[in-house]
Amino acid sequence: MVCRICSREVVEVLDLGYSPPANSLLDFQEQKIASFPLVLQYCKSCSNLQLKDCLESNELYKHYFYLTPNSTTLNEHYEYLTNFLISKKYISKDSKVLEIGSNVGNYLSHIRKFVKETIGVDPAENIAKLANAKGIKTICDFFSFDFAQNLKKSNGEYDSIIARHCFAHNSSPHDLLKGAKEVLSKDGFVIIENAYALNTIENNEFDQIYHEHMFYYSIQSISVALEMNGLKLVDILISLVHGGSIVFIAEHIKEKNLVSNSVETHLEYEKSRLNEYSISNFSNNAFKLKKDLKNMINISNKKNNKIYTYGATAKGNTLLNFVGLDYKNIATCIDSTNIKQGKYLPGSKIKILNENFAFDNPPDCFLLTAWNYKDEIITKVRDMGNVDSTFIVPFPKLHVI
Ligand SMILES: [Zn+2]
Repeated sequence: MVCRICSREVVEVLDLGYSPPANSLLDFQEQKIASFPLVLQYCKSCSNLQLKDCLESNELYKHYFYLTPNSTTLNEHYEYLTNFLISKKYISKDSKVLEIGSNVGNYLSHIRKFVKETIGVDPAENIAKLANAKGIKTICDFFSFDFAQNLKKSNGEYDSIIARHCFAHNSSPHDLLKGAKEVLSKDGFVIIENAYALNTIENNEFDQIYHEHMFYYSIQSISVALEMNGLKLVDILISLVHGGSIVFIAEHIKEKNLVSNSVETHLEYEKSRLNEYSISNFSNNAFKLKKDLKNMINISNKKNNKIYTYGATAKGNTLLNFVGLDYKNIATCIDSTNIKQGKYLPGSKIKILNENFAFDNPPDCFLLTAWNYKDEIITKVRDMGNVDSTFIVPFPKLHVI
């Protein structure tokens, strides 16, 4: 058991049992799907948190259902991020921008008015097709060092290489970073956004752990990975999106890199908070939530209360499978993404229906599996005239609204 960043020994810190790939929805309830262990490991040396078992990418992406939703929370975040990138001159109107894992192209369509040109790369065929149909130029492929070499030959170098919430989805960060460095212009920037390991740990968000998330990056671990590949962390931006995210800005290692003060400040804070003690608390809290949530749902089931989950999310599947909740406990799962509706959640076998169903047949209670969109969802439900349903919010602390 070694760290996939620094190759030193790791320790096992949380075992969530077996779970099917969280974004592989089922076409029918009895469809067979393989489950794989979900075990988190920690490297004391570089502070890396990683999954013990990484699935092959074709296992994860052949039936991929995550489409970046259109949401006010995300649009506000895009603006916040873009303003930061422009004000710090990490992008400009002369920038050639490459986005890795660009999904349906929402961020590229937001950013393209501020830069010279954009191109996206995404491995999911159905998703790249949707992006191209919207006029967002997207290559359907896995980004890797080999891919980057070919791209450089055909398109030249890029000034900004953006990877938002996809970096942790790759089992070989060194290959990704080597690729990014290969195709990065001399004074360009690599911009990596991820769930922040410190938030994941401090907010007890064990539901961030699923097979696609092979790494949980911190300032310490990303710095080590970057420097092993000739890149230097020069700035960071912390945001609240997706339960706490961090944007890492890196450039080529130069004779003198200009590093923002916020890197040092946050690094010191992180070192004091992200350690063996906090990680062992995180693990204990996961098992406590499992017990408390299961009790809460059991009591509702006994009263014959109708419960729906809100959000057919990957994190929701980790939560349901770890807690041991399924279609016998929860009547249905509500989700606004068209292509998910009519399918079933892997493991819990709960059927996914559209929002109109919940408006016409309001439940006693929603379990908010998409708790990161909590305010938006509650407002939507209340605006449609449903003032009675309650909401179970599992994180950062289990509570009912
Ligand atoms: Zn390590």
